[in-house]
Amino acid sequence: MQPMAADSDTRVAKTGERAPNSWGLGDGQAIPWEYAPAPEARDIVALKERYGLFIGGRDVASSDGKTFTSIDPSTEQPLAEIARATPADIDKAVRTARRAQRRAWGSLPGKERAKYLFRIARILQERSREFAVLESMDSGKPIKESRDVDVPLAAAHFWYYAGWADKLDYAFPGRVAKPLGVAAQIIPWNFPLLMLSWKIAPALAAGNTVVLKPASTTPLSALLFADVCRQADLPPGVVNITPGPGEIGMVLATHPDVDKVAFTGSTEIGKKIQRGVAGTDKALTLELGGKAANIVFDDAPLDQAVEGIVNGIYFNQGEVCCAGSRLLVQESIADALIDKLKDRLATIRVGDPLDKNTDVGAINSKSQLEKITELVQSGVDEGAEIYQPPCDLPERGYFFRPTLFTNVAQSHRIAREEIFGPVLSTLTFRTPDEAVEKANNTAYGLSAGIWTEKGSRILSMVSRMRAGVVWANTFNRFDPTSPFGGYKESGFGREGGMHGLHAYVRLEDR
Ligand code: NDP
Repeated sequence: MQPMAADSDTRVAKTGERAPNSWGLGDGQAIPWEYAPAPEARDIVALKERYGLFIGGRDVASSDGKTFTSIDPSTEQPLAEIARATPADIDKAVRTARRAQRRAWGSLPGKERAKYLFRIARILQERSREFAVLESMDSGKPIKESRDVDVPLAAAHFWYYAGWADKLDYAFPGRVAKPLGVAAQIIPWNFPLLMLSWKIAPALAAGNTVVLKPASTTPLSALLFADVCRQADLPPGVVNITPGPGEIGMVLATHPDVDKVAFTGSTEIGKKIQRGVAGTDKALTLELGGKAANIVFDDAPLDQAVEGIVNGIYFNQGEVCCAGSRLLVQESIADALIDKLKDRLATIRVGDPLDKNTDVGAINSKSQLEKITELVQSGVDEGAEIYQPPCDLPERGYFFRPTLFTNVAQSHRIAREEIFGPVLSTLTFRTPDEAVEKANNTAYGLSAGIWTEKGSRILSMVSRMRAGVVWANTFNRFDPTSPFGGYKESGFGREGGMHGLHAYVRLEDR
């Protein structure tokens, strides 16, 4: 890391201004620094030119031979061609999963199922670098996040649910836990491997088999996971992976021989799926969008809160359903907190996802970048004040500057709609009652954050938050033992912990 001449560029940040990475000095002023590149090597990933569907333990072409391309959003370059599942392929995958559930997996003793799950967890750890690099290439997320968050947490979910596989009698005392059967699982592009593990690990632990549809922009880590299933000698057909367009997700969810549907993604598609399975006896869990309030009281340790705010909204480019996208700050400390936040934003490094220094990588797709750009413009048009730190964006790829809005009104679109990008909207409050009122004034109810020194205030605020997860003096912390899910338009059902296991069993009397 080499300091640049101090007089070359100490200045107040302006939107869109070009500048290297920098250390904040106060009032948005920054001394820029050049970071030496620290690229993670790509050669650990042996990308194939073409990937098939994974059905019955084998790579198969789609029934009409069609493929689609997965690209690297940081370079816009193609990575691989992927088989595109048809309705006939979905039918084949569901029938294969049903056979595997009846003949092999459903009747296997729990301790035998556990061995496979432990094996998968261990292989994920052994191949963690390969997964991290591939995930960052396909999704655009910074390598330090895929390496330190996504992949370790994915393995942790398999470890955790492996532990439950032979203990279902203890998880549900006095009841007999039976598997539901075949689970259709549809996952998004923001945490591809992690969402796969949230869904596959509890399903398998409880004796179900699965057909999983990854998002079209991020199919590669799921297809590498297919290789892990083979390496673990998982019986063929227990896990099936069928990439394809959104419509094929609906074909899968509404297939008559599917017993359980688990979906993570937008509220709009979640509602469509709910309509699609209405009137059937399919079990359904929906993990949808969010517009979380991160509430900072005047007694909070401000520097710590700033780190939590940054982690809450700029982690994974803000493409996080539980992102702390609404900052609610007590009026008396608003100016001081915003100054500190601007300083901190000046140090955020945006760029190559595979560079170990990068804090904010590429936006996942062109359409997501367009959505973020449109919503940010609406914030400007509706009268909010925008701040973006100076930073160089790569010339190619889908990148967006970390963005902070102040003077935001509850009625602004940027305060109501899920942006799913590195964009923070700031509102103020005077009293705890007003904070509660504003925090809960949203169609969503997935998560919230509270920053205060007072334990009693934490307890009182937590009980008044209409959100599935409330973090106190931290944000975006995950653990496989802890349930996660929402209220209202954020969906229903819980993933993680024993609640996540419950979603994959039918409880019968002894
Ligand atoms: P979607 O909800 O469209 O995508 C999520 C998953 O659902 C993908 O696998 C997608 O497949 C699939 N899908 C799409 N259409 C259908 C359908 N009709 N029936 C069944 N499955 C379907 O999210 P987007 O990718 O369009 O993102 C749009 C917005 O959704 C984002 O801007 C963000 O606000 C929100 N979102 C929320 C997420 C969360 O974690 N809560 C995750 C992702 C997005 P395919 O990729 O092939 O389209």
